[in-house]
Amino acid sequence: ENEELYCIGCGAPIQSSDPKGLGYVPASAIQKNTEEEDLYCKRCFRLRHYNEVSDVALTDDDFLKILTQIGATDSLIVNVVDLFDFSGSVIPGLQRFVGNNPILIVGNKEDLLPKSLKRSKLRDWIRQSANMQGLRPVDVALISAKKNHMIDSLLKLIDKYREGRDVYVVGVTNVGKSTLINQIIKQQTGISELITTSRFPGTTLDKIEIPFDDEHSLIDTPGVIHQQQMTHFLVGKELNIAVPQKEIKPKVYQLGSGQTLFLGALARFDYLKGERKGVVVYVDNNLMIHRTKTSNAAIFYEKHAGELLQPPFAENMKNLPPLVRFEFKIAQKSDLVFAGLGWITVNADTIVAGWAPKGVAVTLRRAMI
Ligand code: GDP
Repeated sequence: ENEELYCIGCGAPIQSSDPKGLGYVPASAIQKNTEEEDLYCKRCFRLRHYNEVSDVALTDDDFLKILTQIGATDSLIVNVVDLFDFSGSVIPGLQRFVGNNPILIVGNKEDLLPKSLKRSKLRDWIRQSANMQGLRPVDVALISAKKNHMIDSLLKLIDKYREGRDVYVVGVTNVGKSTLINQIIKQQTGISELITTSRFPGTTLDKIEIPFDDEHSLIDTPGVIHQQQMTHFLVGKELNIAVPQKEIKPKVYQLGSGQTLFLGALARFDYLKGERKGVVVYVDNNLMIHRTKTSNAAIFYEKHAGELLQPPFAENMKNLPPLVRFEFKIAQKSDLVFAGLGWITVNADTIVAGWAPKGVAVTLRRAMI
């Protein structure tokens, strides 16, 4: 019977035999909770436990239903994205769904990016990256929901663009949407007026509305997990050395052809061809980075994954799928992005390979910094 249940966070089949395995839920919890919608694997539960308030993760189908309904309204769309995982936060087809409604992009977790990066440059980068995804935002705001940074200016910007209409806040899970909504609630005086409502016909979700003083409201919408992230393979303390909590200190490595970097045991970067030049690594400051010869890298990984190369820790290594290789010919300075883990900035005229656990994307983008 349990074989038919799936974690609604990561989609892994629910099992109760291997506590460290994908989709683990204690047998007692499965018995208590037989509704498929109610089941999260332990990992997703923990991931979600970092949340101050919990977001509701929807299936793609329900999420599309909601987007379609929002598209039929006359409103301002606020799309919250994670600056640390921009491509992982993009909602495919958002522009098409919301039609003529303006979209305001809110880049959250600004606190993780180096202070030296000019914010105007970052905004330009977001706008261009959004354009490449088919999004035409009316504006781009940078905030840190967690640090309560720039929330006031965001609210002013929202008020400017909503022009007396409702506001729908959309975002995939883990971008910090709940944290932002919590901050906004804290800043509003009339908390007693908060309305919970079944806003989306055809779904059973009670969502929070924060009223403006003109009959209109800001409406929170559920998130959807739409991309396999590196961090889905990690649990507990492993997350502390892979998910950055503070400003990332970029690390420069002078690499020549035939050299490899390991990012814990989660990812591998091969510098295949190019001048001896610096690559810059942007990952959690606590993540162990190891340099080795590419010719020796496979053996090195075999020997040290889970020990010298962490995370995952040794006991959790069996849950990590094998690393899969993606090769890139780089014509202009670019970021090689390991979804959810960070990125490596590489110079032009090089050939590199990025490796990530099977199912996790390695992609190339215009350099952010
Ligand atoms: P949601 O799924 O979009 O509602 O995301 P949450 O609000 O639950 O946040 C997801 C994770 O991102 C949590 O671990 C938060 O602590 C973290 N987070 C949220 N806002 C920020 C921020 O501004 N900066 C940083 N560094 N982390 C944040």
